[in-house]
Amino acid sequence: MLNIILFGPPGSGKGTQAYRLKERYNLLHISTGDLLREEKAKGSPLGLEAKKYMDNGLLVPDEVVIGMIRVKLEENVGKVAGIIFDGFPRTVAQAEALDQLLEEKETCIEQVLALEVGEDELVRRLLERGKTSGRADDMDEEKIRTRLGEYHTKTALVAGHYAQTDKVANVAGEGTIEEITERLAGELDRGSNGEEE
Ligand code: AMP
Repeated sequence: MLNIILFGPPGSGKGTQAYRLKERYNLLHISTGDLLREEKAKGSPLGLEAKKYMDNGLLVPDEVVIGMIRVKLEENVGKVAGIIFDGFPRTVAQAEALDQLLEEKETCIEQVLALEVGEDELVRRLLERGKTSGRADDMDEEKIRTRLGEYHTKTALVAGHYAQTDKVANVAGEGTIEEITERLAGELDRGSNGEEE
């Protein structure tokens, strides 16, 4: 399986690029943000619990998110060509859980593609998206700053977790959508050409 993590701060373009890569490489796209928003919209117990954190720009507790991923992997591993993870893992505990769950299924993460975008550009993009996304967490600069804080204190460490395995490629996340997709695809094609196990 071609399992990839699309990594980067809020506003770095993970959702947009994950959609394009999913199409190109025939992958299943799993976005924990989308899954949590669906639960929130349904008003399920999980959604109501998650809402308390999401509405304040904070990370949802690991066990909630890992439980959702476990279900998705149960449903899909062995049936799809690969998975692109978007917005997950966001903590080292989530990364460890993901490694373990994939190992149980005799597969693993092939590559971590890390999008790099400057902080001012991230804030600008998120506020712009907030005008049309209907997402309360995109409309309020204070919440955006909280989300970026969560990224720096908890999520950035995830790159270190995978750096030990030499699987991380940093990709410039500024430019046109097409240019960025080509950079990401270039890394994927290099990674799957036998240069790595
Ligand atoms: P996103 O759509 O990826 O920006 O996620 C929106 C919000 O959902 C985040 O600000 C978090 O509150 C929550 N969330 C999404 N993915 C995760 C995750 N892997 N771990 C914890 N919280 C998450």
